[in-house]
Amino acid sequence: MNWWQTDETHDPSRKSWVESAERHRDFPIQNLPLGLFSPPGEPARIGVAIGDMILDLRACAERGLLDGIVAAACQEETVNRLLALPSVSRRHLRRRVSALLSDPAERKAMEGLLFPAAQCSLHVPARIGDYTDFYVGIHHATNIGRQFRPDNPLLPNYKYVPIGYHGRASSIRSSGVPVRRPVGQRKPPDAEAPLFGPTTRLDHELELGVWIGPGNELGAPIPIGQAAEHVAGFCLLNDWSARDFQAWEYQPLGPFLAKSFHSTISPWIVTAEAMAPFRLAQPPRPGGDPQPLPYLLDEADQAHGALGLTLEAFLLTERMTKEGAAPFRLSTGSTAAMYWTVHQIVAHHASNGCNLSPGDLLGTGTISAPTREGVGSMIELTAGGKEPIVLPNGETRSFLEDGDEIILRATASAPGFVSIGFGECRAKLRPAL
Ligand code: MN
Repeated sequence: MNWWQTDETHDPSRKSWVESAERHRDFPIQNLPLGLFSPPGEPARIGVAIGDMILDLRACAERGLLDGIVAAACQEETVNRLLALPSVSRRHLRRRVSALLSDPAERKAMEGLLFPAAQCSLHVPARIGDYTDFYVGIHHATNIGRQFRPDNPLLPNYKYVPIGYHGRASSIRSSGVPVRRPVGQRKPPDAEAPLFGPTTRLDHELELGVWIGPGNELGAPIPIGQAAEHVAGFCLLNDWSARDFQAWEYQPLGPFLAKSFHSTISPWIVTAEAMAPFRLAQPPRPGGDPQPLPYLLDEADQAHGALGLTLEAFLLTERMTKEGAAPFRLSTGSTAAMYWTVHQIVAHHASNGCNLSPGDLLGTGTISAPTREGVGSMIELTAGGKEPIVLPNGETRSFLEDGDEIILRATASAPGFVSIGFGECRAKLRPAL
């Protein structure tokens, strides 16, 4: 079966006996994302989100409800071994869990294996060996380029090379973990020498995260036509950024301390299989743009390699929380703004023989729409801080302030299918030490 094809698990008429799954905005039975959770007072184990509940996959394996290598992988302390399995095994697990959660005859045996999600803690699901951040949002690249280099926003390599840099895996945290405002070097434009202190230009970046499944051997590139086999699933990623540090430190080697202090991910891995109904053709490149070089060009990838995802970012200030206000939507955009597909960034990453491993995380880079309503960072929303946004209660923001909370959401939808969501990627800012 091809990676863009659907099966009975995507059937819109399929229903779960878990009542809260019915019309759940994120986790209907058509989603079944993988994660790592702890029931109250208990150690972490692998689970699947279904409605407002979490199914304990370790317990399922222990009771003989799963078999073979899948059962063994579901009893591990992280999802790394599960991600290392080929897509055929992941699909097997998905079909089995979908059958267990939809067949009313299984309900009695299964109910003790479900926990209310609201009572559980969710963790970063994998040991992330390496994290790489790309820059595939072409409107973001143009907007940022214009602020850093007004005369030359998009560098000449952009339409040939999927630009990326090696990020920091150790500081990736799950949704809900507060973010400490970082301290570092910044050089105000009129100052002669840099200062060392808390960032005054703290920003969010709305990105899609890509979980690597089976890896490749060192020295063995991943051909573009096989890249899908190496993508296990997706999450949301907030690549927090200190723009003042970034502007001062980024030349000539790229981002460093402006990014490495903390990144937040949504804890559920929405599998590549769950995304099968939401595959789209990669939008055609504007006239005059070069074709991708052959090692990045694949017919199936061009026909099915894009994703039908709507992305949203919300801001909730401390005052809004006190006033009982709902989070304010900063932006809404779509993954159609990705100049390169996920498979192209995977093939490019491994094209020099670099080995990817199960549980590695790739970020797409900030995804911004061509218009102001759809830009995925404050530096774009406020034109570099020059045009502050005004919130409904009168508060203004050029960049983020202590106590602010950023919430990212993603929804996949397609005609004839049940929409699925990614759950929340949220974190609140704490003052600098
Ligand atoms: Mn980024």
